[in-house]
Amino acid sequence: MNASASPANKLDGYEIPRSRMIEHLRNHYKIKDEKVLEVMNRLPRHQFVPEALKSQAYKDNALPISAGQTISQPFIVARMTELLELEPKDRVLEIGAGSGYQTAILASLARKIFAVERIPGLAKAALEKLRKLDFQNVSIRTADGTNGWEVYAPFDAILVAAGSPSVPEPLLRQLKIGGKFIIPIGEDQKTQTLVRITRTDNGSENENFGPCAFVPLIGEYGWE
Ligand code: SAH
Repeated sequence: MNASASPANKLDGYEIPRSRMIEHLRNHYKIKDEKVLEVMNRLPRHQFVPEALKSQAYKDNALPISAGQTISQPFIVARMTELLELEPKDRVLEIGAGSGYQTAILASLARKIFAVERIPGLAKAALEKLRKLDFQNVSIRTADGTNGWEVYAPFDAILVAAGSPSVPEPLLRQLKIGGKFIIPIGEDQKTQTLVRITRTDNGSENENFGPCAFVPLIGEYGWE
């Protein structure tokens, strides 16, 4: 499934908070990519948060999921997706699937998503939700994503949703020339800078997009 055939948003009672979230992303956070906003206005974010937090699903903050992890703030999800500049033909590697919400957005904009999640229970729950929403173009694997997913490389785009001390070298190697890679990088485990890396013929170019706060990326090329 891709952009043109993403699951439709049936009336679900969350139309008003969802459209407020979209207005806030557009007017306050200056998210400009209308395709990203359209997808976020369609996907049921409330289905990706714990039952008890459903009423808060469209608020402007991250929320706890399970195993001490979080579903990222809508703004950061929108910004990271916008910065990837996805095309419908793209194959994308996502590290840190968590709730699966970001995965659903990527799967609505690109051809195929290969997602890696380190915590088995989260990976399983995310895949179940995505199947229930009829996404057929997502594979989720439980593993240390700092090693990437070699057999399916190279990727058109890579998104890492956890904070890393540095750029995991295997991920850069698995990115196509011209491909874009978004990752939060920081010297401590609590705060990072959102970095976009574009792979070039003879190396890579980095751009910074301001401070952010993600849970740590734990693995061979991340934190211990
Ligand atoms: N985009 C997700 C963010 C989840 S938080 C969402 O909005 O729901 C980040 C996730 O990264 C957590 O689920 C955590 O378990 C996972 N993670 C941390 N280190 C990882 C690694 N090395 N490989 C794969 N996943 C990792």
